[in-house]
Amino acid sequence: MSTSDTAADFGEHAARIELARCLDVCLDCRRCVDLCGVFSEAIDLVGSLGHAESGLLTPLEQDRILSLCSHCDQCRDDCPHRPGVGEAAVDLPAAVEGVAAAVHRSGRTGWRSAFVVRALASDGAMRWARRFRGPLNRLLRGREGGVSRRALSMLIGVTSDRPVPRIADQSFTDWFGLREPAIDAVAPSVLVVPTCLIDQFAPEIGQATVTTLEGCGVRCVPSGVICCGGGLLESGQVDRFLRVAETNLALLSEGDCADPIVVLQPGCAEVLRSDYPRVLGQRAAAVASRVRGAFEHLDARSSMEAPGDGPSLPDVVGVISSPRAAATGEEDLLIARLEGRGVRVVRIPSGPVGESSAALLSTRDTAESAPGPAEVADDVPLVGLSVLVNGALERRLGRAVEPAQNLLPALFPAVADP
Ligand code: SF4
Ligand code: SF4
Repeated sequence: MSTSDTAADFGEHAARIELARCLDVCLDCRRCVDLCGVFSEAIDLVGSLGHAESGLLTPLEQDRILSLCSHCDQCRDDCPHRPGVGEAAVDLPAAVEGVAAAVHRSGRTGWRSAFVVRALASDGAMRWARRFRGPLNRLLRGREGGVSRRALSMLIGVTSDRPVPRIADQSFTDWFGLREPAIDAVAPSVLVVPTCLIDQFAPEIGQATVTTLEGCGVRCVPSGVICCGGGLLESGQVDRFLRVAETNLALLSEGDCADPIVVLQPGCAEVLRSDYPRVLGQRAAAVASRVRGAFEHLDARSSMEAPGDGPSLPDVVGVISSPRAAATGEEDLLIARLEGRGVRVVRIPSGPVGESSAALLSTRDTAESAPGPAEVADDVPLVGLSVLVNGALERRLGRAVEPAQNLLPALFPAVADP
């Protein structure tokens, strides 16, 4: 073992001790037990093994717990024991990130465990991947756990155990760059951050969002930022995350721009709003304060009045509820809008499903084996805000889950004279 390997192992040991210390405080407190699967899994494991303390959990047991963290930050927000407030100084999401970073530094997981997330954060790599989207998509279309998916997992580390969206024929960025803006230059503008998931896999969601924003009199301007880098942070690639975040911060602050920043996936909005100031410090606070979700931005501009001739809505809708979409408030706004228009909403918990690009890594498969959500009647349409959660829930329920953004034109109809 080299000197650097030894140092990395000491780093991992310290990170795991810190995670166990935080879990011990949480197991006494139990205030967050309903927020996600992390707390109930810790309670079960510590209880069933007869352990009195989390420090006796093995690394494998710890990994099982932390694979259930979707990095939504909800447990950080109101924790009475958080650093600077309580004496225990508990920051569970940071402790989870600490273990991921130490494991990544140790190199034990191999280059494949980092490849997909790195590629998605790199525009050049994705342009290269797009050229080979035909064969790549054929492999991605294979049955989960089947031969082609396992081959792809061995080749580039993409998970073989959960549905992965196909690479789109045209990226959102290319579509955005080729189109004629549909609104004049004096309209109030927003910077658009598509996110790597929308850009590469679901550009139609970005197109529907931009069209709705413009119909409501909002000029959409490309921000130059595609990927927030959150998947890099979650997968322990902290140095790369810092490089991506610094570049993004410079792009979003260019020319002292003060326009709102509309981020097209809720989890990525949360990374810009919460993780950037936490990791980069106060200088990221001004950018963070400008970050909005599409529903949030439109909600502030548009009345609840039902239009006379807009697209119709179903009587009942099942909304897939994920920790990150809930943390951003986008989910509550979607539900409030639907209910305001007379739609009955059934909220369906997603369970622990990774929402960032890190969920595409084969090392994160554990979370996908968790129990599925409650059943809903077959004729109730299901919608969700997060691309990756929608795919995972389609598999669990055996039913289609549509992007909630498809409802934008019905919920925020175009105004005649924006
Ligand atoms: S994160 Fe804080 S509030 Fe939540 S269970 Fe742990 S100690 Fe309690
Ligand atoms: S999923 Fe969210 S609430 Fe649960 S531990 Fe992770 S950051 Fe905290």
